[in-house]
Amino acid sequence: MSRQYPPVTPEDVDALKHAIGESHVSTGSSNLDLHSKDESYHEPHRPDVVVWPQTTEDVVACVKLAAEKGYAVTPWCAGTSLEGNPIPIKGGLVLDFTEMNRILEIREKDLQVDVEVGIQYRELNNQLRHYGLFFPPDPGAWAAIGGMIGNNASGVRTVAYGATRDCVLGLEVVTADGDVLHLGSRAIKSSSGYDLVRLMIGSEGTLGIVTRATLRLRGLPPEYLTVVATFPAIHDACEAVSDTIRYGLNPAALELMDAAVVAEINRDQKMTLAERPMLFLEFHNVNESALESQFEMVQGVLQEHGALTVERGIGADERVRLWEVRHGALESIKRNHPGASVLLVDTCVPISRYAEMVDRAKETVEREGAVGFFWGHAGDGNLHLGLLYDPADAAAKDAVARVNRTVVEHGIAAGGSCTGEHGVGIGKLPFVEAEHGKALDYMRRIKAALDPKGILNPGKMLPE
Ligand SMILES: Cc1cc2nc3c(=O)[nH]c(=O)nc-3n(C[C@H](O)[C@H](O)[C@H](O)COP(=O)(O)OP(=O)(O)OC[C@H]3O[C@@H](n4cnc5c(N)ncnc54)[C@H](O)[C@@H]3O)c2cc1C
Repeated sequence: MSRQYPPVTPEDVDALKHAIGESHVSTGSSNLDLHSKDESYHEPHRPDVVVWPQTTEDVVACVKLAAEKGYAVTPWCAGTSLEGNPIPIKGGLVLDFTEMNRILEIREKDLQVDVEVGIQYRELNNQLRHYGLFFPPDPGAWAAIGGMIGNNASGVRTVAYGATRDCVLGLEVVTADGDVLHLGSRAIKSSSGYDLVRLMIGSEGTLGIVTRATLRLRGLPPEYLTVVATFPAIHDACEAVSDTIRYGLNPAALELMDAAVVAEINRDQKMTLAERPMLFLEFHNVNESALESQFEMVQGVLQEHGALTVERGIGADERVRLWEVRHGALESIKRNHPGASVLLVDTCVPISRYAEMVDRAKETVEREGAVGFFWGHAGDGNLHLGLLYDPADAAAKDAVARVNRTVVEHGIAAGGSCTGEHGVGIGKLPFVEAEHGKALDYMRRIKAALDPKGILNPGKMLPE
């Protein structure tokens, strides 16, 4: 039976206002509504109170109160999750980190920065640009560092630079009993102790609340090259992915879009991209002649796989625009179909199984008579499939749920994961047992050790 959590009492709301400041605590309807839903299709659920901590001590005060009274406490950054990850389904407190958003120290010679976790990664990168540096994970939405840590977010450049987990060196974490831990170090490698930094990353706020992070940065590449290739069929585009990686061409991005997604982008963004299955690639190198050699090689590989066109060398503005519209694919689909909902499938397989995965997903979409849009971080084996449906049509809702289940189960059976980057949240709870088997029991033991009262973002990550 699912566990009950008491509602936060008016006296405790007053105590929070007293401890943290009246203007940083709200029980107003609009604030509760704003913190009741993320960007997913999952049902909203209001918290009892929203708190905007200003300091780590504020977080400690909230967690200690929650621990004493048994309230649920859910950390929140930008609320752009796609699996219900920050929805406070057991009520209680939401801690919104948007006002803890300072850059604390940039150590440019070490390629490191210390931040408070409410800073958005785009804003961080705007500042880092002046130092010739950047933080690579780029989920596209207006995500903040705390939420990226929560979900182990990744993005178009993960194929070259890794996910958030690969770009974090240290964390300040408030534990479920209100202790403040400093995890990790400034060294870029270490063999010391259990790796609690990486345990926290991707734990969706269920093991601890992160207040500060030390991030590992990269130098901005001196030269970029964007390549756009079109194919007669999506299968050919997918088959080209593994060879592009295998031949050591080191793309900094390798993205797939089906013709239907390109058409949605053209319609919404007034673009004139060829409406064919497409790979977007980006290369980073030290000079133009190195990029020229890379281009010649990749052109050969793409043509071997039947590419109809392989275009290169667009200008900087066009490149930025292209990535913007790619990042905005989901939003374009939503804007073109007002009133419809989108269930976004996120699954990840070894790249050798990518084409097969996409073929199986296409067959399933057709069999169910669903409307599906395919795109994804192909270089990571990560497929996104946007399933459009009318939320008032129960049969359509069931059909997209069946497509989601079939595609995700196939991904797991192919040696992959039920989620490449969006996290478990609520939507992937039915799949974690199939993916992790007996290891799930050990995950439950870790949860029980770090959060014995079960107050941290309850109802997520581990099925009840
Ligand atoms: C249009 C669109 C495109 C997207 N594309 C991508 C993509 O390419 N790649 C990708 O990875 N994601 C993508 N996402 C999903 C989403 O943007 C990412 O998962 C992002 O990391 C969420 O960040 P956030 O700041 O919105 O976090 P939130 O949604 O606020 O929170 C995310 C999780 O982290 C937890 N959390 C928040 N703050 C803390 C904290 N201080 N301590 C501990 N836990 C915390 C929350 O409880 C929640 O479980 C996309 C979303 C949209 C809407």
